[in-house]
Amino acid sequence: MEKTFAIIKPDAVSKGYTGEIISRIEKKGFKISAMKKIKMDKKTAESFYAVHKEKPFFEALTTFMSSGPAVVMVLEKENAIAEWRELMGATNPEDAEENTLRKDFGKNIDNNAVHGSDAPETADIETRFFFADIECV
Ligand code: UDP
Repeated sequence: MEKTFAIIKPDAVSKGYTGEIISRIEKKGFKISAMKKIKMDKKTAESFYAVHKEKPFFEALTTFMSSGPAVVMVLEKENAIAEWRELMGATNPEDAEENTLRKDFGKNIDNNAVHGSDAPETADIETRFFFADIECV
């Protein structure tokens, strides 16, 4: 079994999509190993997205990610990293395929509803950023 780290971003939480997104996650066969609602401050969002520090969208991204509550999760499944990215859809909801979360719940590339790790190392780093071992069942 592989684990990946996921976020239901502030846009989706504030619009009341949390339950529907969790339901879609479970229907796809992911086991939720850890989950909690958090509110990042700006510094925490900057630290989480440090890899994008030099990108033109860094300021907007970290302001958005610290704008309200988000739900952080660890998802477990065979091939979880790739399968979660498939369920999320393309970064830009306009390019996302039918029946993906970003197509159904994302508004635009800045407000794209969900986050997912892109590799095992980042999944581990991102999980440890938010969760203690005791929280991952
Ligand atoms: N992002 C953005 N503008 C861009 C590119 C990315 O606001 O032009 C945001 C978007 O929310 C995306 C996040 O930065 O989800 C991280 O970008 P990445 O390229 O890692 O995309 P992802 O892995 O989330 O699909």
